[in-house]
Amino acid sequence: MTYVITRLCIDCVDRGCVEVCPVECIYEPLHAAPPERPAMLYIHPTQCISCGACEPECPWGAIYEDRELPDLLQADAAINVLCEEHPSAFAVAVPVRDATGQIIRKSRPSVPAVAANRSRWGVK
Ligand code: SF4
Ligand code: SF4
Repeated sequence: MTYVITRLCIDCVDRGCVEVCPVECIYEPLHAAPPERPAMLYIHPTQCISCGACEPECPWGAIYEDRELPDLLQADAAINVLCEEHPSAFAVAVPVRDATGQIIRKSRPSVPAVAANRSRWGVK
């Protein structure tokens, strides 16, 4: 069992998940992402200790245990594996900070915004 970040993460810059991961196993693509490497964060399936800390921190509901993935998001488990298969193309994700080093937090998305994001990807 591992945890998976799904396409519901695409374009989020909140990174609340990154702050709580105790083993720094959440990665981001290093370069402009090609279509097969979408602009989202990725959980390293071997490094993840399945503690579950990241799941409730994600305001978009983008993180699932692999065995709980909805059918429409099943393919995203293989996308996460890319950070293990191509380590030179990824770096450990870090929180976004301002000039003083303070973590920049976004306000949490509204319920309708979360629903609209899920609808965008066909997820109920
Ligand atoms: S908090 Fe959720 S949506 Fe934001 S970067 Fe982390 S996994 Fe992606
Ligand atoms: S389940 Fe735990 S170890 Fe795995 S990515 Fe989330 S916070 Fe990190």
